[in-house]
Amino acid sequence: MLIPSSLRPLDGRFGAGPSRIPAAHLHLDATWMGTSHRASPVKSIVGDIRNMLGTLFDLPEGYEVALGNGGASLLWDAIGLCLVERKAQAASFGAFSGKAAAAIAAQPQLDSPSVRTAEPGHAIECVNEEGVDTYLYPHNETSTGVMLPVRRWDGLTVVDGTSAAGGVDVDISETDVYYFSPQKALASDGGLWLAILSPAAIERSERLTAERWVPDLLNLTKALEASRKNQTVNTPALATLNLLHAQLRWMLSEGGLAAMNARCLANSRIIYEWAEATSWAHPFAEKDYRSRTVVTVDVDLPAEEIVEICRRSGIVDISGYRGLKRNQLRIATFPQMRDQDLRALAESLTWVGQQLDPR
Ligand SMILES: *Cc1c(COP(=O)(O)O)cnc(C)c1O
Repeated sequence: MLIPSSLRPLDGRFGAGPSRIPAAHLHLDATWMGTSHRASPVKSIVGDIRNMLGTLFDLPEGYEVALGNGGASLLWDAIGLCLVERKAQAASFGAFSGKAAAAIAAQPQLDSPSVRTAEPGHAIECVNEEGVDTYLYPHNETSTGVMLPVRRWDGLTVVDGTSAAGGVDVDISETDVYYFSPQKALASDGGLWLAILSPAAIERSERLTAERWVPDLLNLTKALEASRKNQTVNTPALATLNLLHAQLRWMLSEGGLAAMNARCLANSRIIYEWAEATSWAHPFAEKDYRSRTVVTVDVDLPAEEIVEICRRSGIVDISGYRGLKRNQLRIATFPQMRDQDLRALAESLTWVGQQLDPR
Protein backbone atom coordinates (compact mmCIF):
# COMPACT_ATOMS: atom_id res chain seq x y z
CA MET A 1 0.00 0.00 0.00
CA LEU A 2 1.47 3.34 -1.08
CA ILE A 3 0.12 6.82 -0.49
CA PRO A 4 -0.90 8.38 -3.84
CA SER A 5 1.91 10.69 -4.92
CA SER A 6 -0.56 13.53 -5.46
CA LEU A 7 -1.18 13.59 -1.70
CA ARG A 8 2.39 13.20 -0.47
CA PRO A 9 4.48 16.06 0.86
CA LEU A 10 7.30 17.26 -1.39
CA ASP A 11 9.74 16.77 1.48
CA GLY A 12 8.88 13.78 3.67
CA ARG A 13 11.26 14.43 6.59
CA PHE A 14 9.31 15.10 9.81
CA GLY A 15 11.73 13.84 12.45
CA ALA A 16 12.37 15.62 15.74
CA GLY A 17 16.12 15.35 15.36
CA PRO A 18 18.22 15.01 13.36
CA SER A 19 15.62 17.10 11.62
CA ARG A 20 15.02 18.28 8.09
CA ILE A 21 17.88 20.31 6.64
CA PRO A 22 16.80 22.68 3.85
CA ALA A 23 18.18 21.32 0.56
CA ALA A 24 19.76 24.67 -0.30
CA HIS A 25 21.88 24.56 2.86
CA LEU A 26 23.48 21.33 1.71
CA HIS A 27 24.97 23.04 -1.32
CA LEU A 28 26.96 25.73 0.42
CA ASP A 29 30.02 27.23 -1.10
CA ALA A 30 32.23 26.43 1.88
CA THR A 31 35.82 26.78 0.81
CA TRP A 32 36.69 26.58 4.51
CA MET A 33 35.55 22.95 4.94
CA GLY A 34 38.69 20.93 5.57
CA THR A 35 40.67 23.84 7.00
CA SER A 36 41.93 24.50 10.52
CA HIS A 37 39.43 25.42 13.21
CA ARG A 38 42.19 27.46 14.86
CA ALA A 39 42.44 29.80 11.87
CA SER A 40 40.23 32.10 9.89
CA PRO A 41 37.87 31.64 8.11
CA VAL A 42 36.52 28.94 10.49
CA LYS A 43 37.05 31.26 13.46
CA SER A 44 35.09 34.00 11.74
CA ILE A 45 32.25 31.54 11.02
CA VAL A 46 32.15 30.65 14.74
CA GLY A 47 32.18 34.37 15.51
CA ASP A 48 29.26 34.89 13.11
CA ILE A 49 27.35 32.03 14.76
CA ARG A 50 27.89 33.53 18.22
CA ASN A 51 26.84 36.98 17.00
CA MET A 52 23.81 35.70 15.13
CA LEU A 53 22.66 33.73 18.20
CA GLY A 54 23.11 36.91 20.21
CA THR A 55 20.86 38.77 17.78
CA LEU A 56 18.32 35.95 17.49
CA PHE A 57 17.91 35.69 21.27
CA ASP A 58 18.31 39.42 21.90
CA LEU A 59 20.91 38.82 24.61
CA PRO A 60 20.74 40.98 27.72
CA GLU A 61 23.87 42.87 28.82
CA GLY A 62 26.63 40.54 30.00
CA TYR A 63 25.19 37.29 28.60
CA GLU A 64 27.60 35.25 26.45
CA VAL A 65 27.36 32.39 23.94
CA ALA A 66 29.55 29.34 24.57
CA LEU A 67 29.85 26.19 22.49
CA GLY A 68 31.62 22.87 22.57
CA ASN A 69 31.48 19.25 21.51
CA GLY A 70 29.24 16.52 22.88
CA GLY A 71 25.71 17.78 22.32
CA ALA A 72 23.20 18.87 24.95
CA SER A 73 23.57 15.52 26.75
CA LEU A 74 27.14 16.39 27.69
CA LEU A 75 25.91 19.49 29.49
CA TRP A 76 23.81 17.37 31.87
CA ASP A 77 27.10 16.18 33.39
CA ALA A 78 28.81 19.58 33.06
CA ILE A 79 25.96 21.35 34.87
CA GLY A 80 26.37 19.17 37.95
CA LEU A 81 30.13 19.72 37.97
CA CYS A 82 30.32 23.42 37.09
CA LEU A 83 27.04 25.05 38.14
CA VAL A 84 25.29 23.19 40.95
CA GLU A 85 26.79 24.28 44.24
CA ARG A 86 25.14 21.74 46.59
CA LYS A 87 21.59 20.98 45.62
CA ALA A 88 19.51 21.23 42.47
CA GLN A 89 15.83 20.92 41.76
CA ALA A 90 14.78 19.36 38.45
CA ALA A 91 11.43 19.10 36.71
CA SER A 92 11.11 15.66 35.10
CA PHE A 93 8.22 14.75 32.80
CA GLY A 94 9.69 12.74 29.96
CA ALA A 95 12.84 11.07 28.64
CA PHE A 96 15.05 14.12 28.22
CA SER A 97 14.16 15.93 31.44
CA GLY A 98 14.40 12.56 33.19
CA LYS A 99 17.94 12.00 31.93
CA ALA A 100 18.97 15.49 33.01
CA ALA A 101 17.63 14.86 36.52
CA ALA A 102 19.33 11.44 36.68
CA ALA A 103 22.69 12.92 35.64
CA ILE A 104 22.56 15.40 38.53
CA ALA A 105 21.39 12.70 40.96
CA ALA A 106 24.40 10.55 40.00
CA GLN A 107 27.03 13.12 41.06
CA PRO A 108 28.45 12.07 44.43
CA GLN A 109 29.71 15.52 45.47
CA LEU A 110 26.16 16.96 45.41
CA ASP A 111 23.17 16.53 47.69
CA SER A 112 20.37 14.51 46.14
CA PRO A 113 18.33 16.80 43.90
CA SER A 114 14.64 17.47 44.46
CA VAL A 115 12.93 15.98 41.45
CA ARG A 116 9.42 17.08 40.58
CA THR A 117 7.80 14.56 38.28
CA ALA A 118 4.67 14.43 36.17
CA GLU A 119 3.23 11.69 34.00
CA PRO A 120 4.20 11.77 30.30
CA GLY A 121 1.97 14.19 28.42
CA HIS A 122 1.66 16.43 31.46
CA ALA A 123 3.75 19.37 32.58
CA ILE A 124 5.26 20.25 35.91
CA GLU A 125 7.10 23.42 36.79
CA CYS A 126 9.80 24.04 39.37
CA VAL A 127 8.86 25.73 42.63
CA ASN A 128 11.05 27.87 44.88
CA GLU A 129 12.63 25.73 47.58
CA GLU A 130 14.85 26.47 50.56
CA GLY A 131 18.41 25.17 50.10
CA VAL A 132 18.22 24.75 46.32
CA ASP A 133 20.86 26.74 44.38
CA THR A 134 20.08 25.57 40.81
CA TYR A 135 16.79 24.86 39.00
CA LEU A 136 16.66 22.71 35.87
CA TYR A 137 13.86 22.15 33.41
CA PRO A 138 13.35 21.70 29.67
CA HIS A 139 11.70 24.40 27.56
CA ASN A 140 10.27 21.63 25.42
CA GLU A 141 10.17 17.96 26.43
CA THR A 142 10.87 16.40 23.04
CA SER A 143 9.76 12.89 23.98
CA THR A 144 6.18 13.96 24.82
CA GLY A 145 5.66 17.29 23.01
CA VAL A 146 5.07 19.23 26.23
CA MET A 147 6.30 22.83 26.43
CA LEU A 148 6.86 24.84 29.62
CA PRO A 149 6.86 28.60 30.09
CA VAL A 150 10.40 29.87 30.65
CA ARG A 151 10.69 31.65 33.97
CA ARG A 152 13.28 32.34 36.58
CA TRP A 153 13.35 30.62 39.96
CA ASP A 154 15.17 31.57 43.10
CA GLY A 155 18.63 30.27 42.09
CA LEU A 156 20.52 29.66 38.86
CA THR A 157 17.84 28.83 36.29
CA VAL A 158 19.15 26.31 33.76
CA VAL A 159 16.87 25.55 30.82
CA ASP A 160 17.30 22.77 28.25
CA GLY A 161 16.11 24.57 25.14
CA THR A 162 17.19 21.85 22.73
CA SER A 163 14.03 21.24 20.70
CA ALA A 164 12.64 24.76 21.22
CA ALA A 165 15.66 26.99 20.56
CA GLY A 166 15.11 28.91 17.34
CA GLY A 167 11.45 27.97 17.08
CA VAL A 168 9.87 29.34 20.25
CA ASP A 169 10.00 32.83 21.73
CA VAL A 170 11.99 33.09 24.93
CA ASP A 171 13.00 35.89 27.26
CA ILE A 172 16.64 35.01 27.93
CA SER A 173 16.75 37.32 30.96
CA GLU A 174 14.51 34.73 32.68
CA THR A 175 17.33 32.18 32.41
CA ASP A 176 20.94 31.84 33.54
CA VAL A 177 21.72 29.05 31.11
CA TYR A 178 19.71 28.35 27.97
CA TYR A 179 21.36 25.44 26.19
CA PHE A 180 20.66 23.39 23.09
CA SER A 181 21.98 21.17 20.30
CA PRO A 182 21.77 22.34 16.68
CA GLN A 183 20.11 19.30 15.03
CA LYS A 184 16.53 20.26 15.94
CA ALA A 185 14.97 23.66 15.19
CA LEU A 186 18.36 24.92 14.02
CA ALA A 187 18.41 22.49 11.07
CA SER A 188 22.02 21.52 11.51
CA ASP A 189 23.73 18.25 12.37
CA GLY A 190 24.52 16.74 15.76
CA GLY A 191 27.63 16.78 17.88
CA LEU A 192 27.71 20.34 19.17
CA TRP A 193 26.26 22.00 22.25
CA LEU A 194 25.54 25.70 22.53
CA ALA A 195 24.74 27.60 25.69
CA ILE A 196 23.77 31.16 26.51
CA LEU A 197 25.24 32.03 29.91
CA SER A 198 24.27 34.86 32.26
CA PRO A 199 26.87 36.76 34.29
CA ALA A 200 25.69 34.82 37.38
CA ALA A 201 26.20 31.49 35.62
CA ILE A 202 29.65 32.54 34.41
CA GLU A 203 30.61 33.61 37.94
CA ARG A 204 29.30 30.34 39.46
CA SER A 205 31.19 28.27 36.90
CA GLU A 206 34.43 30.21 37.41
CA ARG A 207 34.20 29.74 41.17
CA LEU A 208 33.27 26.04 41.20
CA THR A 209 35.73 24.98 38.49
CA ALA A 210 38.51 26.67 40.47
CA GLU A 211 37.51 24.70 43.60
CA ARG A 212 36.70 21.28 42.11
CA TRP A 213 38.40 18.86 39.79
CA VAL A 214 36.48 18.99 36.54
CA PRO A 215 37.54 17.13 33.36
CA ASP A 216 38.56 19.63 30.68
CA LEU A 217 35.85 18.59 28.23
CA LEU A 218 33.16 19.08 30.89
CA ASN A 219 34.56 22.40 32.08
CA LEU A 220 32.19 25.23 31.14
CA THR A 221 34.73 27.89 32.11
CA LYS A 222 37.28 26.44 29.68
CA ALA A 223 34.57 26.15 27.02
CA LEU A 224 33.65 29.80 27.48
CA GLU A 225 37.30 30.90 27.33
CA ALA A 226 37.73 29.06 24.02
CA SER A 227 34.39 30.39 22.74
CA ARG A 228 35.46 33.98 23.43
CA LYS A 229 38.28 33.33 20.94
CA ASN A 230 35.73 31.84 18.51
CA GLN A 231 37.16 28.40 19.06
CA THR A 232 36.23 25.19 20.82
CA VAL A 233 38.33 23.21 23.31
CA ASN A 234 38.72 20.39 20.77
CA THR A 235 37.92 20.04 17.08
CA PRO A 236 34.30 20.71 16.10
CA ALA A 237 32.51 19.18 13.10
CA LEU A 238 32.83 21.90 10.46
CA ALA A 239 29.81 20.58 8.54
CA THR A 240 27.68 21.12 11.64
CA LEU A 241 28.94 24.71 11.93
CA ASN A 242 28.36 25.19 8.22
CA LEU A 243 24.70 24.12 8.39
CA LEU A 244 24.06 26.05 11.61
CA HIS A 245 25.48 29.21 10.06
CA ALA A 246 23.20 28.85 7.04
CA GLN A 247 20.10 28.28 9.17
CA LEU A 248 20.83 31.25 11.44
CA ARG A 249 21.28 33.52 8.42
CA TRP A 250 17.96 32.32 7.06
CA MET A 251 16.20 32.81 10.41
CA LEU A 252 17.43 36.38 10.77
CA SER A 253 16.61 37.25 7.16
CA GLU A 254 13.05 35.96 7.72
CA GLY A 255 12.48 38.18 10.76
CA GLY A 256 14.26 36.46 13.65
CA LEU A 257 12.79 34.62 16.60
CA ALA A 258 9.36 36.29 16.52
CA ALA A 259 8.90 35.20 12.91
CA MET A 260 10.12 31.66 13.68
CA ASN A 261 7.77 31.46 16.65
CA ALA A 262 4.84 32.45 14.42
CA ARG A 263 5.90 29.91 11.82
CA CYS A 264 6.08 27.06 14.36
CA LEU A 265 2.76 28.08 15.88
CA ALA A 266 1.09 27.95 12.46
CA ASN A 267 2.87 24.71 11.55
CA SER A 268 1.86 22.95 14.75
CA ARG A 269 -1.76 24.13 14.42
CA ILE A 270 -2.04 22.29 11.12
CA ILE A 271 -1.34 18.99 12.89
CA TYR A 272 -3.31 19.71 16.08
CA GLU A 273 -6.34 20.80 14.06
CA TRP A 274 -6.05 17.73 11.85
CA ALA A 275 -5.94 15.49 14.95
CA GLU A 276 -8.90 17.23 16.53
CA ALA A 277 -10.91 16.77 13.34
CA THR A 278 -9.92 13.11 12.93
CA SER A 279 -11.92 10.49 14.82
CA TRP A 280 -8.95 8.14 15.34
CA ALA A 281 -6.36 10.79 16.36
CA HIS A 282 -6.04 12.70 19.65
CA PRO A 283 -3.48 15.35 20.63
CA PHE A 284 -1.46 13.83 23.48
CA ALA A 285 -0.01 16.77 25.41
CA GLU A 286 -1.96 18.61 28.11
CA LYS A 287 -3.76 21.40 26.31
CA ASP A 288 -2.14 24.47 27.90
CA TYR A 289 1.34 23.02 27.43
CA ARG A 290 1.18 21.74 23.87
CA SER A 291 4.47 22.14 22.05
CA ARG A 292 4.84 24.43 19.07
CA THR A 293 7.78 22.46 17.66
CA VAL A 294 7.08 18.77 18.37
CA VAL A 295 3.49 17.56 18.04
CA THR A 296 2.47 14.23 19.61
CA VAL A 297 -0.75 12.51 18.60
CA ASP A 298 -2.21 9.32 20.10
CA VAL A 299 -3.93 7.14 17.52
CA ASP A 300 -6.60 4.43 17.72
CA LEU A 301 -5.30 2.67 14.58
CA PRO A 302 -2.00 0.73 14.79
CA ALA A 303 0.74 3.38 14.78
CA GLU A 304 3.34 0.89 13.52
CA GLU A 305 1.30 0.21 10.38
CA ILE A 306 0.73 3.91 9.75
CA VAL A 307 4.44 4.61 10.17
CA GLU A 308 5.39 1.75 7.84
CA ILE A 309 3.00 2.78 5.05
CA CYS A 310 4.28 6.34 5.37
CA ARG A 311 7.91 5.23 5.33
CA ARG A 312 7.40 3.26 2.12
CA SER A 313 5.79 6.36 0.65
CA GLY A 314 8.75 8.58 1.55
CA ILE A 315 7.36 10.08 4.78
CA VAL A 316 9.89 9.33 7.52
CA ASP A 317 10.48 9.65 11.26
CA ILE A 318 6.90 10.13 12.44
CA SER A 319 6.89 7.38 15.07
CA GLY A 320 6.41 8.28 18.71
CA TYR A 321 9.41 8.45 21.03
CA ARG A 322 10.39 4.80 21.40
CA GLY A 323 10.87 4.85 25.18
CA LEU A 324 7.35 6.21 25.64
CA LYS A 325 5.85 2.97 24.25
CA ARG A 326 2.55 4.54 23.27
CA ASN A 327 0.47 4.03 20.15
CA GLN A 328 1.52 7.45 19.00
CA LEU A 329 2.82 9.62 16.16
CA ARG A 330 5.30 12.45 16.72
CA ILE A 331 5.72 15.14 14.10
CA ALA A 332 8.25 17.98 14.16
CA THR A 333 6.93 21.42 13.23
CA PHE A 334 10.28 23.25 13.37
CA PRO A 335 10.85 26.51 11.46
CA GLN A 336 12.38 24.70 8.49
CA MET A 337 9.19 22.69 7.99
CA ARG A 338 6.85 24.16 5.36
CA ASP A 339 3.13 24.48 5.95
CA GLN A 340 2.29 22.90 2.58
CA ASP A 341 4.27 19.80 3.56
CA LEU A 342 2.46 19.57 6.90
CA ARG A 343 -0.91 19.93 5.19
CA ALA A 344 0.09 17.21 2.71
CA LEU A 345 1.18 15.02 5.62
CA ALA A 346 -2.21 15.50 7.26
CA GLU A 347 -3.99 14.54 4.03
CA SER A 348 -1.70 11.55 3.62
CA LEU A 349 -2.49 10.37 7.15
CA THR A 350 -6.20 10.76 6.53
CA TRP A 351 -5.83 8.61 3.41
CA VAL A 352 -3.88 5.95 5.36
CA GLY A 353 -6.60 5.97 8.02
CA GLN A 354 -9.27 5.33 5.35
CA GLN A 355 -7.31 2.33 4.05
CA LEU A 356 -6.81 0.82 7.51
CA ASP A 357 -10.35 1.44 8.71
CA PRO A 358 -12.63 1.98 5.73
CA ARG A 359 -15.80 2.52 7.78
C1 LIG B 1 17.62 15.99 21.53
C2 LIG B 1 17.57 16.50 22.91
C3 LIG B 1 18.65 16.39 23.78
C4 LIG B 1 19.90 15.60 23.41
O1 LIG B 1 20.64 16.23 22.45
P1 LIG B 1 22.00 15.54 21.98
O2 LIG B 1 22.54 16.51 20.98
O3 LIG B 1 21.66 14.21 21.40
O4 LIG B 1 22.86 15.40 23.18
C5 LIG B 1 18.56 16.93 25.02
N1 LIG B 1 17.45 17.58 25.42
C6 LIG B 1 16.38 17.72 24.63
C7 LIG B 1 15.19 18.45 25.12
C8 LIG B 1 16.41 17.19 23.34
O5 LIG B 1 15.35 17.32 22.53
